[in-house]
Amino acid sequence: MIPFNKPFIAGKELYYIAQAVTYGNIAGDGHFTKACAKLFEDQFGITKVLMTPSCTAALEMAAILCDFQPGDEVILPSYTFVSTASAFVREGAKPVFVDIRPDTLNIDESLIDAAITDRTRAIVPVHYAGVGCEMDRIMEIADRHGLLVIEDAAQGVNASYKGRALGSIGHFGAFSFHETKNYICGEGGALCINDERFIERAEIIRDKGTNRQRFFRGEVDKYTWVDIGSSYVPSEICSAFLYGQLELLDTIAQRRRAIYETYTRLLMPLADEGRLELPNIPEDCQSNYHMFYVLLPSREIRDTLMEGLRAQGITAVFHYIPLHTSPMGHKFGSDQQHLPQTDALNGRLLRLPFYYSIEDQEIHGVVDAMTDILTGLSVPKTSQSPMPTRVV
Ligand SMILES: *Cc1c(COP(=O)(O)O)cnc(C)c1O
Repeated sequence: MIPFNKPFIAGKELYYIAQAVTYGNIAGDGHFTKACAKLFEDQFGITKVLMTPSCTAALEMAAILCDFQPGDEVILPSYTFVSTASAFVREGAKPVFVDIRPDTLNIDESLIDAAITDRTRAIVPVHYAGVGCEMDRIMEIADRHGLLVIEDAAQGVNASYKGRALGSIGHFGAFSFHETKNYICGEGGALCINDERFIERAEIIRDKGTNRQRFFRGEVDKYTWVDIGSSYVPSEICSAFLYGQLELLDTIAQRRRAIYETYTRLLMPLADEGRLELPNIPEDCQSNYHMFYVLLPSREIRDTLMEGLRAQGITAVFHYIPLHTSPMGHKFGSDQQHLPQTDALNGRLLRLPFYYSIEDQEIHGVVDAMTDILTGLSVPKTSQSPMPTRVV
């Protein structure tokens, strides 16, 4: 049996949980929560990092900080996780979906200008699979129109674009430490703030709408209710676990890179025969190798492959149902959404088992099973012309 994902222990995670208990503080913002935030600020060049209970919580905080007025619009891809849109919709913003680039499956920056209206307030690029969006272009568009940029870097922790860490480029960035991501603590996240104007209000929103952080710093002599907010502080238990992994940032990254490169090498013959397409990483991007996906020629072949693997105990999974086709997408998005690349991709993508502790022998097993299934297929008449060879 080869699962799609397996949570892992890489170092001192459990020891640090015990240590958090002995330090006598397992609620929020203790030793380990502060240590995680500081590590991200120092290593990734982020102005201020606030640890949160999830990436969804971080996106919600960013959405509150955007201060939307009724009718305001937010630009984002349809090919993404629900939270990318829901965090903004619950603050009253209207999602405007933009198509993706066929090479990275990230938002197509060349289509953003055309989606901007006088109601547009923000752009939410999603760094799919840990490969950066074209951030120079996106920031230039945002500057020109006075928009805020919120990077959904849930999958982009420890990846970079032109040498800058994902999450450090937009006004805000959001990280996830969900057990399916690269660095994990069960459920967890972080809000990255790169524009100092937002730091003080972010601290208040995170702490139930109180100015308790200012009180802790001795800036006010009592704390009180000063704004809207919620409980967006993670447990110290989760931060202790996460810190055990962040200490091994590079070790974990190197293993993921090796897994990715093994898949690439072993799948090359199938790609050369035009049976599938491999993912593509532009030169400007240093990936964190968050996932390994392949694109099949059709939904039929993808489903046959997925079922065939499952029959051999290998779990490979598809990904997002595009949000513009969802019930909430219909309710809150525009009526006419023409997203040909998103529609064309839908049904062709398959994600392969990928986790820190996967053995090389298991990767070989996955690829052998894929080869058997795909070479045993007579190409159905419904399928189009053979796939173009690998995008370089
Ligand atoms: C995982 C993920 C999220 C949500 O992260 P949580 O920590 O589970 O809230 C948001 N956006 C993207 C693109 C994701 O992959």
